[in-house]
Amino acid sequence: MATNMRAHEAGILHADGYAAQPQWLPEPEDLSELMPKLWAANTDRGEHGELTVAGVPVTDIARDFGTAAYVVDEDDFRARARAFRDDFTAPFAAIGGADVYYAGKAFLCTAVARWIMEEGLHLDTCSGGEMAVAQRVGFPPERVALHGNNKSRAELRQALEWGIGRIVVDSFAEIDRVAEIADELGVVAPVMVRVTVGVEAHTHEFIATAHEDQKFGFSLANGRAREAVDRIVAKGESLRLLGLHSHIGSQIFDTAGFEIAARRLIDLHTEVAAEHGIAMPEMDLGGGYGIAYTSEHDPLSPRQLGEQMGDLVARELKVFQEEHPEAVLPRISIEPGRAIAGPSAFTLYEIGTIKDVEVTGDLTRTYVSVDGGMSDNVRTALYGADYSCALASRTSDAEERLVRVVGRHCESGDIVVMDEYLPGDIVAGDLIAVPGTGAYCRSLSNQYNHTPRPPVVAVRDGVARVIVRRETIEDLLALDVDESAPPQEVR
Ligand SMILES: *Cc1c(COP(=O)(O)O)cnc(C)c1O
Repeated sequence: MATNMRAHEAGILHADGYAAQPQWLPEPEDLSELMPKLWAANTDRGEHGELTVAGVPVTDIARDFGTAAYVVDEDDFRARARAFRDDFTAPFAAIGGADVYYAGKAFLCTAVARWIMEEGLHLDTCSGGEMAVAQRVGFPPERVALHGNNKSRAELRQALEWGIGRIVVDSFAEIDRVAEIADELGVVAPVMVRVTVGVEAHTHEFIATAHEDQKFGFSLANGRAREAVDRIVAKGESLRLLGLHSHIGSQIFDTAGFEIAARRLIDLHTEVAAEHGIAMPEMDLGGGYGIAYTSEHDPLSPRQLGEQMGDLVARELKVFQEEHPEAVLPRISIEPGRAIAGPSAFTLYEIGTIKDVEVTGDLTRTYVSVDGGMSDNVRTALYGADYSCALASRTSDAEERLVRVVGRHCESGDIVVMDEYLPGDIVAGDLIAVPGTGAYCRSLSNQYNHTPRPPVVAVRDGVARVIVRRETIEDLLALDVDESAPPQEVR
């Protein structure tokens, strides 16, 4: 058989002439097996082989709520939140303590805000809308933070009137703006300084540089971060300086980048103590803890993260402690979003068109289309994210087939799962599930092609319920001003 060079370079050419397997994707031994690191804890196979969540078969979910649908294992979500709250923070007890802020941008609705509130976590927001969700459920404002490089005056006012716990300031103009609004309202605004520490973390490596070319924060290297601290201290009647903040990236699998970030923040923290005589009470190391989207990802558990980060923070704080033996150590905070919300959910789709496409003379790729796509999960199209999937409505003993799962949208880049093995006998009407879609899928969703967005269905103890309802065509048309309709109001 002639060898297709590009396919060969990309991986292994399948013996029967079907598409090339990427190097990292192992041929599965059992297609019905659910790899635990990919799926929420209460996901299983039912008596007919169908996927179940907390005892509810996905066939029932599809029948009752339709597809596409996001399905969240509520107990799994809560357990991940608790693991960060307890296991992550335990090693910090000896060095000033730690708090966990759930990054709401990963996925937020009132039900999720309540879960976070009930599990005793804190909450990160970055818009008036996210704050409104927290306000709706009566989230204690002192446990909420507001982020963003371009918060509006209205959002800053909303935060301060509410009594928010911290505003993470991101520019000199914003320092002045927050002080002005605090003065108008007669309050003192609690602020942290977003520091660009010169560490950029990616999945398996990080880059440590002196300078960064990005929109967030005050650079440490050129002294802007220090100037920001000075400006805040000078406005002490309006602003209360809580501490320094950094966030180095996303989908990170080791703590080396955090070590450099912590060292650089603690150096500045120590300098501020020496020059202003202020021991700032807090320090935030941000989020970015990775999850398993495919078999190739091996994330650290909250316990492992806590042990490693507790160690490195303790080590880096030594100098500060030696120079300021009487000073209170900063309380550390972190901001996981993906690592709490991501693995708790999967997206349930129904298979439609299945098409074998001859890529070259001896290479055929099977395209499996589903009733969703880049409108409900834009991550693959946006930044080449990898996902996996499994046949969900049944199991099958058929030979495996390497497939590409694609959406229903008018873009050839509308891919959901780049490469995955599914049983060769899949047909239209089968259900498939894509795990790890709890973070940055609903929150980044859109209505491309006038596609109503899927519902979010939460399952707990054998009961499935809608926590965000499916969008309807009426919802889509509700914003559309029909100029041919009789005027509603005549002046
Ligand atoms: C996005 C973000 C997070 C959360 O990142 P994850 O990768 O979801 O953990 C935390 N903090 C800040 C400031 C962020 O911008």
